[in-house]
Amino acid sequence: MIKVVKFGGSSLADAKQFEKVGEIIHADPSRVFVVPSAPGKRFSGDTKVTDLLYRCYDLAVAGKDFTDPFREIQSRYNEIIKGLQLSFSLEDQFALIEEELKKEHPSRDFIASRGENLNGRVMAQYLGFAFIDPAEAIFFDENGLWDEEKTRAALAPKLRETGKAVIPGFYGCDVKGNVKTFSRGGSDITGSIVAGACRADVYENWTDVSGCLAADPRIVQDPVPIKTITYKELRELSYMGASVLHEDAIFPVRKEGIPINIRNTNRPQDDGTWIVESTCQKTGYTITGIAGKKDFCAVLISKDQMNTEVGFCRKVLQAFEDNGISIEHMPSGIDTMTVVVHESEFMDKEQQVVSEIHRLARPDSIEIEADLALIAVVGRGMKSNRGTAGRIFASLAHAHVNVRMIDQGSSELNIIIGVENKDFEKAIRAIYAIFVETQL
Ligand code: ASP
Repeated sequence: MIKVVKFGGSSLADAKQFEKVGEIIHADPSRVFVVPSAPGKRFSGDTKVTDLLYRCYDLAVAGKDFTDPFREIQSRYNEIIKGLQLSFSLEDQFALIEEELKKEHPSRDFIASRGENLNGRVMAQYLGFAFIDPAEAIFFDENGLWDEEKTRAALAPKLRETGKAVIPGFYGCDVKGNVKTFSRGGSDITGSIVAGACRADVYENWTDVSGCLAADPRIVQDPVPIKTITYKELRELSYMGASVLHEDAIFPVRKEGIPINIRNTNRPQDDGTWIVESTCQKTGYTITGIAGKKDFCAVLISKDQMNTEVGFCRKVLQAFEDNGISIEHMPSGIDTMTVVVHESEFMDKEQQVVSEIHRLARPDSIEIEADLALIAVVGRGMKSNRGTAGRIFASLAHAHVNVRMIDQGSSELNIIIGVENKDFEKAIRAIYAIFVETQL
């Protein structure tokens, strides 16, 4: 059994957290490959080391003094080293970062990557594991995308040879041999890549919550945790704003059929959430989770006899495409179609889009409605349960929420509901109550 364990920034924010991580790793001998993030926030209002590094970079390129944030970074690591009673120093590494910052054109990615790099060095020392530098094992192609083949060829033998290793998250090497980072939160991707490369049995992703929750805890009080969720369900929920894992972290493990287990470093006794390809585990609530986002815009296009006109939809969509606007949803009626877009993307270009739709498709009228919120009710169980939609709408009616739009995905995995921004929280609470609270 091989487990790849990735620890997020809050799990490694100080020496005490490092100790918890050490206990978790030692508790299970199959936890052999460890992917750390950079030290995160120790308390609310604290600054992540990655953000301090970006600050140093910004000051350096502006020709300003970066001593303060740089000292703060040094003391964060020195405190961890001292707290763990390691006889080990990062002074040579600090000197390398300083040298880079003093260059005429310092590398932003190199600077940012040091958060994980230094934490990986400390972790390897603390655990007595080998250290694998992703700059020599994880590669990007000429388009800046992760190069799967090249990575596997380099990483798999290194993992085999070392047997137990720490591989810092968040970065790799570009085609020119320079350090390149993934986007923010990218250590999740590294963990997934390592798990794929060693064909791990499980990819454990340790964070500060006991897995995914059925709803946003800022909206619903103490939402129930989700025990098992499929990759597809997670994708729907993350797209709608539920943030658990970096979006790109699914692909490398999904390809190999490796499940992801989200766990809580501060509550290792909790099972957390299993993210799997497919499952016969029931959620117990018909729905798996609810998520949503505010600030969408609906563009309602009407034309008599629209349904008989060949190519009408294409012409309408062309107007959005020509203006570089991506489309979220597209419910349609007999003589109407609605195109739902992000308000922020659409706002500046609305009149261009409207006149282009008029020019291309000659509709009878176009109406724009703003301040729409979309809510996704997601669940693999919906397909086989009668009355799901009925319960959703009954709950919304009871809560006096006016439903502005309905869209059921063809996968029958989700129902999307459009409500006014002002009803967003109320609607989520009502749906959660009918499906979950009544079952508790
Ligand atoms: N440290 C990086 C960030 O703050 C990457 C990560 O934590 O996953 O975005």
